[in-house]
Amino acid sequence: DCVVYWMRMGDLRVSDNRALSLASDQAQTNGVPLVVLFTISPQDYQAHDRAARRIDFVLRNLKCIQSKLDELNIPLHVETIDVRRQMPQRVMTFLADVNSKHLFANYEYEVDELRRDIILYALAKEANVRFELHHNRCIVEPGVIFTAQGKSPAVFSPYFKKWAPLVNHDSSYVEDAPAPKPNEQDVREKEPLAAMFKEMVPDFVDGFKLEADDKKKMEECWPAGEDAALEVLARFLKTKSRSTQRGDVNPLEEGAQESAKDSRVKQYHQERDHVDADTTSRLSPYLSAGVLSIRECVRAGRKMSKTADNVDTSRDSGVGRWNQELAWRDFYTNILVAFPRVSMGRPYLEKYSDVVWEDAVDADGNDTEAVKAWKEGRTGYPIVDAGMRTLNEMGWMHNRLRMTTAMFLTKHLMIDWRVGEKYFQERLIDGDLASNNGGWQWSASTGVDPCPYFRIFNPYSQSEKADPSGDYIRQMVPELKSLKGKQIHHPSVDSADALGYARPIVEHTSARNRALRRFKDVGEV
Ligand code: FAD
Repeated sequence: DCVVYWMRMGDLRVSDNRALSLASDQAQTNGVPLVVLFTISPQDYQAHDRAARRIDFVLRNLKCIQSKLDELNIPLHVETIDVRRQMPQRVMTFLADVNSKHLFANYEYEVDELRRDIILYALAKEANVRFELHHNRCIVEPGVIFTAQGKSPAVFSPYFKKWAPLVNHDSSYVEDAPAPKPNEQDVREKEPLAAMFKEMVPDFVDGFKLEADDKKKMEECWPAGEDAALEVLARFLKTKSRSTQRGDVNPLEEGAQESAKDSRVKQYHQERDHVDADTTSRLSPYLSAGVLSIRECVRAGRKMSKTADNVDTSRDSGVGRWNQELAWRDFYTNILVAFPRVSMGRPYLEKYSDVVWEDAVDADGNDTEAVKAWKEGRTGYPIVDAGMRTLNEMGWMHNRLRMTTAMFLTKHLMIDWRVGEKYFQERLIDGDLASNNGGWQWSASTGVDPCPYFRIFNPYSQSEKADPSGDYIRQMVPELKSLKGKQIHHPSVDSADALGYARPIVEHTSARNRALRRFKDVGEV
């Protein structure tokens, strides 16, 4: 007999993990061992456009988890399930193999995953197995905040107005879930658990193997493990930003100076939109894979802010502004649950279903030149190209650049937002359906609380604001390294030609006018 905790790809940690913690309690109460199951589902990864980088990150983290569990005498069983529809049945078979009547997991809110869990729930009930699901991904879980009319808020500020007092008045939202207790039984002696301690976490999943260079790069940029994640958080809270943001910088690289007074988080409300310095936390890969608890972020900020007992939610302080960004993550997850159509390729604002987009593929099914240029960072717009090259190189991009590149694809090139959403998901190490979809639909003006369709970022002025020194562009677009002053943001055709840099793929004003017409045509009927 034993209790099983099924770890999913969004809760890759041992500490502050609600389902794991409760599964451990249950095992202690029943006087039986706790076992951890992890399932690999290549078909799901394929269907959800998962980046090979993300899968590699999952496996690297899983290895760290395995050694932490090993210290606790808790076995980890990793199983690859080739046919995803068979997942519920295979989990049931595993439970029967280990003779367990108790399964714990944290919610995965995406539609496919919820459907899978519903099927499993029914199978479990039939077999007299208790299947418990817990909320662990968000600070305030989906389905808690409603408008006065009882609807799910589709605009961030009213959502946040309710979010802040909830988090302040009910400390359970940010409470640390107790660590699992070690198994005291002789689990290393008795089969089938004994065999699990000898299992190896695979190095790769077929179809998702990274090239050696890319793997090395990802390991440098995004070291795995809960300890690494906590260290990235600590540096954000304690150290100053470095003056230039290297595309390939390791968040733990030495060189950042300690300073609690003007640490990155303290400056966040003023500096966060600058991309020429290391201004944000770079925690998104750890948060989206659940290597770091989002509750830990709020608790750590609370210890630092003046409002020690409260969660600072002010726009005018670094910690407060950062908490607001964390709340955006909750907001988009809430949207995914309340309006599942957004995760099925449909716009939130249905009136924009009929926007006329340019072709993204040619007659042979290959990317058109415009899409290729965008993906490869050759649009002739330096800030767009710098952003896309950063994405390709390190699997991450600053939020301001995500908005700028997304808006460029959807407004300047008039390419369907779903093309960009898919490409981001395939390249990002922090790819998250709710935030990625939310960010794309915001940029394309089709989403909740969208940027209105007539607000179209001017990539040149965005560039001047986000990268005033131009150093970030010089770093990521080395062809332009020799350009001085403002030319770096908007090189003349002559200098672009002389330096071997692309000419602008579209002209800003006419592209803008085309987008306005296309949106107006469908939006004002
Ligand atoms: P910080 O500024 O330090 O913020 C801390 C954390 O708050 C982030 O790690 C993230 O978890 C959350 N957060 C911050 N801003 C947002 C936001 N606008 N929406 C939701 N959560 C936010 N974020 C992802 O985690 N995965 C994605 O796949 C993703 N795709 C995006 C696509 C587009 C087109 C856009 C515009 C945004 C996307 N974002 C995504 C949101 C945001 O860009 C990243 O979370 C942020 O850049 C990560 O950097 P950071 O960890 O340094 O953020």
